[in-house]
Amino acid sequence: MNPLNEKQIRASFVNASKREAAQATLPDLDAIDWESLDYLGWRDRKAPLAAYAVLELDGAPTGVLLRAGDPSPDGRRRKAVCAWCEDVVVTDDVSLYVARRGGASGKRGNTIGTLVCTQFVCSANVRRTPTRTEAGNATAAEEIVERRIAGLRERSARFVAEVLRTR
Ligand SMILES: [Zn+2]
Repeated sequence: MNPLNEKQIRASFVNASKREAAQATLPDLDAIDWESLDYLGWRDRKAPLAAYAVLELDGAPTGVLLRAGDPSPDGRRRKAVCAWCEDVVVTDDVSLYVARRGGASGKRGNTIGTLVCTQFVCSANVRRTPTRTEAGNATAAEEIVERRIAGLRERSARFVAEVLRTR
């Protein structure tokens, strides 16, 4: 994805109040390898259950404020497949994230949830080199990775578009 600066990120949130957008704790943007990301997702260091995901929707940076479900009482992680990267290898660190819908719908308390990699490592997951069983040769491997990347972009963008949808 194209690199974003702090101002662009804070202005991108479609379901956050001005105050929430201003208070979000951002990651170290200089340390991010933007080229290997399909979306930027992170947990708020200072607000344990708050998280954010920003991606390009119709060419414009579009961000959603997410809230993580409370961790299970026994501290055990549930096994689940991430709805964005659909990675079948890393299934033990996937969390339910809930977004308030944008606009009037959100003000009425409507939310939408999705299961996503807890630390938002989807972009790394889809770029993992396919196994021999998955791909017989380098060309096939490349195609698989490209297909995974396209799938991740589509599914994550669809979720953000759904948050935006006002009806
Ligand atoms: Zn994922």
